[in-house]
Amino acid sequence: MSGHISFFESVSNYVDNAARYTDLPNGLLEQIKACNLVLRIRFPVRIGNDYEVIEAYRVQHSHHRLPTKGGIRYAESVDQDEVMALAALMSYKCALVDVPFGGAKGGIKINPARFTVEQLQSITRRYTTELIKKNFIGPGIDVPAPDYGTGPREMAWILDTYQAFRHGEIDSIGCVTGKPITQNGIRGRNEATGRGVFYGIRECMSHEEDMKKIGLTKGIEGKTMVVQGLGNVGSNTALISQREGGVKIIGVSEREGSIYDANGIDVEKLLLYRMEKGTIIGYPGSKHIGDPKAALEIECDILVPAALENQITVENAPRIKAKIIAEAANGPITADADPILLKNGSMILPDFYINAGGVTVSYFEWLKNLSHHRFGRLENRFQSQAFSNILKKVEDMTGKTISDRERYLLTRGGTEIELVNSGLEDTMITAYQQVRDTMLMNSKIPDVRTAAFVCALNKIASDYISMGIFP
Ligand code: GLU
Repeated sequence: MSGHISFFESVSNYVDNAARYTDLPNGLLEQIKACNLVLRIRFPVRIGNDYEVIEAYRVQHSHHRLPTKGGIRYAESVDQDEVMALAALMSYKCALVDVPFGGAKGGIKINPARFTVEQLQSITRRYTTELIKKNFIGPGIDVPAPDYGTGPREMAWILDTYQAFRHGEIDSIGCVTGKPITQNGIRGRNEATGRGVFYGIRECMSHEEDMKKIGLTKGIEGKTMVVQGLGNVGSNTALISQREGGVKIIGVSEREGSIYDANGIDVEKLLLYRMEKGTIIGYPGSKHIGDPKAALEIECDILVPAALENQITVENAPRIKAKIIAEAANGPITADADPILLKNGSMILPDFYINAGGVTVSYFEWLKNLSHHRFGRLENRFQSQAFSNILKKVEDMTGKTISDRERYLLTRGGTEIELVNSGLEDTMITAYQQVRDTMLMNSKIPDVRTAAFVCALNKIASDYISMGIFP
């Protein structure tokens, strides 16, 4: 919650704001903003000798495209409003990056750390059964994925439960994404959100004139970054930005507190340190600077809030000194803090763009599942032979010989991980260019978030209009 307005209201307000720069027919905006289906579930789970009543939700925000898609989170913060807001963000996210799904989200109101693996398994299986009973899951209906507090393990339980009830359904493996690779998952899905965050920031920083406006030079290399949260998204963003982008990570925070080192923190070593000691505090060379929120106030080029929503509020926004804020988490900035940051000259890369890498690779996984084969399997050898023939012809014509190493590089087909990563890179770059072009075409659009909502709204609206529902 931000002040008196809820998370869902705050997403709706952003949409209303952006709608002023669109030309939507009467009534369509209200339909787009509304959550189409809300499922509220209560079920008992046996914990030791007692029973606990578990509260859970699945929300399908928009059916302009099917299936609907979105993660399932396990967190104590889960309530109907939060799941509705996150489901709505999924619709705009999918539209923006041209992933042909409607938006959905699920949530179970639990702290997973309080339960054993067996208990978590029975909660997950019971939740899946409820979804099956209400027709809220299926490869053509609604396809869950991981989110905060869930991962490949939970997705495997969901798949197994679904298949037990839908024995023989040929496309059943596409009922959930983010599965382990051995259970029909896809390589690259686990780190996809963090990798997408990196590609998005890098693309944004490649525009010299945009960077100049916020007092930065062009290019990501050598820039400083602070990351809040070392979960799946935060740790992969930090690792990939450091390894592939030459970024210097100067601040990190986790639930035990924030650390700072102006000379840069080796994230790989820090992750190992935390695994061993159970904390990031005391990491050699770093300074403990305060609670988990303290890192947000470090002066840096790029700030990556990658934990939960509502981290930057009216209270701490005036003290944020980052040039770029990449919302790797969903909703880390409250609606009333957003204008304060913009006024102070920060550029905000909004959640439903910058963290869209996860659902993008989920889409690739779903395509792989429906086609029942691994990308590249059918064509790689054939293409490689064709390239070889061309090289041979070139050798014959020029009289020169191509080395074995060069031949290998020039003729080989892409592996699954290479194809996934290049598809992800292309998706993040294309979407950013669309958002940027939208801003260039309408100089009244004040910021990236509004421009991204304009793009997403126009795409969803054109679906409704072409269905003939709205004139
Ligand atoms: N939970 C992720 C998100 O918020 C991924 C959703 C998906 O892969 O369907 O985007």
